[in-house]
Amino acid sequence: DHVKVRTALLSVSDKTGIIELAQALIEQGVKLLSTGGTHKAVAAAGLAVTDVSEVTGFPEIMDGRVKTLHPNVHGGLLSIRDDAEHVAAMKEHGIEGIDLAVINLYPFEEVRAAGGDYPTTVENIDIGGPAMIRASAKNHAYVTIVTDPSDYPSLIEALRSNDGQTAYAFRQKLAAKAYARTAAYDTAISNWFAEALDIEIPRYRTIGGILKEEMRYGENPHQSAGFYVTGENRPGVATARLLQGKQLSYNNINDTDGAFELIGEFAPETSGPTCAIIKHANPCGVAVGPTLKDAYLRALACDSTSAFGGIIALNQLLDAETAEEIVKLFTEVIIAPDVSPEAQQIIAAKKNLRLLVTGGLPDPRSRGLTAKTVAGGLLVQTRDNGMIEDIDLRVVTKRAPTETELADLKFAYKVAKHVKSNAIVYAKDGQTAGIGAGQMSRIDSARIAGLKAEEAAKAMGWAQPLTKGSAVASEAFFPFADGLLSAIAAGATAVIQPGGSMRDDEVIAAANEHDVAMVFTGMRHFRH
Ligand code: 5GP
Repeated sequence: DHVKVRTALLSVSDKTGIIELAQALIEQGVKLLSTGGTHKAVAAAGLAVTDVSEVTGFPEIMDGRVKTLHPNVHGGLLSIRDDAEHVAAMKEHGIEGIDLAVINLYPFEEVRAAGGDYPTTVENIDIGGPAMIRASAKNHAYVTIVTDPSDYPSLIEALRSNDGQTAYAFRQKLAAKAYARTAAYDTAISNWFAEALDIEIPRYRTIGGILKEEMRYGENPHQSAGFYVTGENRPGVATARLLQGKQLSYNNINDTDGAFELIGEFAPETSGPTCAIIKHANPCGVAVGPTLKDAYLRALACDSTSAFGGIIALNQLLDAETAEEIVKLFTEVIIAPDVSPEAQQIIAAKKNLRLLVTGGLPDPRSRGLTAKTVAGGLLVQTRDNGMIEDIDLRVVTKRAPTETELADLKFAYKVAKHVKSNAIVYAKDGQTAGIGAGQMSRIDSARIAGLKAEEAAKAMGWAQPLTKGSAVASEAFFPFADGLLSAIAAGATAVIQPGGSMRDDEVIAAANEHDVAMVFTGMRHFRH
C-alpha cells in the first residue's frame, strides 16, 4: 500500500512553507511541476521546477481561469496505475502520472470576509484547484493530496521515513480532509451568493464552515470538538479577537455567543450603556445604566450568585472604571466591541480572564440562518430577527401601561427573547429584577423568577424585591391565568406577551381585576 512519489504538482495561492516543501521533495528525488505563480516562487528560490504549461502544451489563458484543466493533468491525477487500459491510454496520449498534488485555493473566503466587490469575489472562485483536489482525492489509492500547509511537515516526515513513499492510510486521511476542504469552499461560495442576492431560503444555501480551531474537548471532557466559521459577516464570537486569556472552550463559545447576540439588541445610541451577564447561555442579569460601570453593577445585582464564573457582554467600549469593577469577581469571558488601553491593562492582571473584542455589535435585524442537529439531520431556520421596536403593540387591558412601564416592558421582552423557554423576565427601570428560564411549565418559570428577585433583595439588603412595581415579559403566551397571577403576586404591574392563547380572555380578565396593564406583541420568541 506504499506508493513512491516521483512527480508532484504544486499549485498554491497561499505560498506559506512551499519553498521548504519543494526543497524537501527535491531531496527525495521528486520531479516538480507547478502553475505560474507557484513556479515563479519556487524557481526564484533556485529550485528545479517545470511549468505545467509544458505538460499541457498550452499556455495559461484567460487570466489563469484555465491553467490545469487539461487531460494531461487530470489523466495524470486520475489514472489507475495498474489498470492495463489506463496504462495504455497514458502511453498513447503521452500522459505522465502525478503522485502528489499540493494545492490550496484562491482565497475566496478571505476576499468575502474583507467585503470584496462582486466581480473581485467572483474572480476568486477557484475552478481548476478544486477539480484537481477532487480528482487526486478520488484516486487516493495512488495519489497523495495535500490541501493545508500545516500538513507539510507530516508529509515531509512521511516521505523521509518511508524512502520517498506514502502509506495508504495517510493518503486516505488526506483525501477525507480534501473533500472537507472543497465542500467548505463551495459552501462559502453558495452562502456568499445567497447573501449577495438576499436569499434566505435554505435550498439556496448550505450550512457548513471551515474548521477554525480544534478544541481540547466538547461540552464534556470525553467529547471531541471543533469550532467552524461560516464566514458570515457578523460581529461575534466567531470573528472576535482574543486579546488575552487561554483558548475558549466549547461551553465558553456557546455562552459568549448567547451573551453577545443578546447585547446586540441594545444599540448604545438608543439604549445607553448596557451589560449582560450570562451563565449556561441564559442571562442572569441585564441592565442599562447611566454609565457602563453602573450598567454592570445593576446587571450583577440581579443575581450575583449565578454571575460567578459568568460571561459578560458589553454594548460599548470597555472603560477603566468598569474593568476595575469586573476584576473584583471571577469571570470567564468578557466580550465587547472595543476596550480602552487602560481597561486592557486592568484586565491583564487577571491572566485567565478571556477578553474578546469584536469591533462592533451584531445587527439584530440582520438575516441569516441558524441550525441545530437532530439524530441524522440538521434543522435549519432563519434567525429570529424580530424586534420589539418594529411591532405595533396592542393594549388589551382597561389600563394602558405608563411610559416607564412601557419602556420596561420592551426591555424585558428583548431579554426574554434570549432566555431559554419557558422564559419569564421581570424588569424595573432598565434592570432585570428576576429571570426564570428553561422550565417545562410557564408558572414554574414565573415562580423561579420571583424567587430569584427575593434572593437578590436579600443579598443586596434591599427593603423589597425589584419585582414590586415591575414589568414582566413572557416570551410566549400564558396558557392559563396562573402564570400571570404568580407574576402579579410578585408585584408586577404591567405585562407583555404575544397573546393568542385559547384562554386569552381569562388572562385579560385576571389582569383587569388587578389593575394590571397588559400588551400583546403578536410575536413569539421561543428559544429551545
Ligand atoms: P499560481 O499562483 O501558481 O499561478 O496559481 C495557484 C492557484 O491557481 C491555486 O490556488 C490553484 O488552486 C489555482 N489553479 C490551478 N489551476 C487552475 C485552473 O485551471 N483554473 C483556475 N481558475 N485556478 C487554477
